[in-house]
Amino acid sequence: YEILVVTGVQTCALPISLDYIRKPLNLELCKARIEVVLRHRAQIRRLESLSSTDALTQVANRRYLDDFLLAEWRRAQREGGNIGLIMIDIDYFKRINDRYSHSIGDDVLIQLAKLLTNHMRENDIVARIGGEEFSMIISQPLCEAKKGLERLRRLVENTPIISDKHEIFFTISIGAIEVNPQLPSLESALDAADTCLYAAKRSGRNKIIT
Ligand code: GH3
Ligand code: MG
Ligand code: MG
Repeated sequence: YEILVVTGVQTCALPISLDYIRKPLNLELCKARIEVVLRHRAQIRRLESLSSTDALTQVANRRYLDDFLLAEWRRAQREGGNIGLIMIDIDYFKRINDRYSHSIGDDVLIQLAKLLTNHMRENDIVARIGGEEFSMIISQPLCEAKKGLERLRRLVENTPIISDKHEIFFTISIGAIEVNPQLPSLESALDAADTCLYAAKRSGRNKIIT
């Protein structure tokens, strides 16, 4: 606990995660109020985590990715550094749902999210930004990251996901760009990454376009 002894303070509005008691110190009361504050803090942390997590795959969600990207972009404007924005979309995912079932489709999403999480480096993030679409933000220059992305593409291609005794093979298409911190807005970076992804789809899927 952090306990602050303050004198001469008027009653004032406190955030829900802080509280105060008046002197003389009553230890029982103090303990009860500390427990209330800790419960509130735990609830706030839980809500923060829920609002930034994708419920199905437990990776970050679109909201978290947008906030993270903006923060990284501002940091890069101040201090320099690289921001790689990677878009990943499962090829012909609808066929997996149709051939097996929606719940096996869900399992594929969960297992791919795990694979992406294992693949990323410390300080990178992976998010599910749509149905069968994931995004990663990396701090490595794209020219260096390309080999790793190629390894990831091949790993997905060659590693079946086992769900309900089915062996499911699938591939992913990847669009990747390096974000220029001097751009006037992030919108154009997101558009450019999408353009790369769609170029990968148009040129036959199971490809990386940077
Ligand atoms: P493409 O190679 O062009 O990306 O084809 P695709 O079939 O992967 O893409 P399309 O956009 O045609 O279909 C995406 C499908 O993803 C349709 C939708 O039902 C399914 N989907 C979206 N969200 C979920 C989900 O949470 N769970 C499951 N099981 N399916 C989902
Ligand atoms: Mg798809
Ligand atoms: Mg898609």
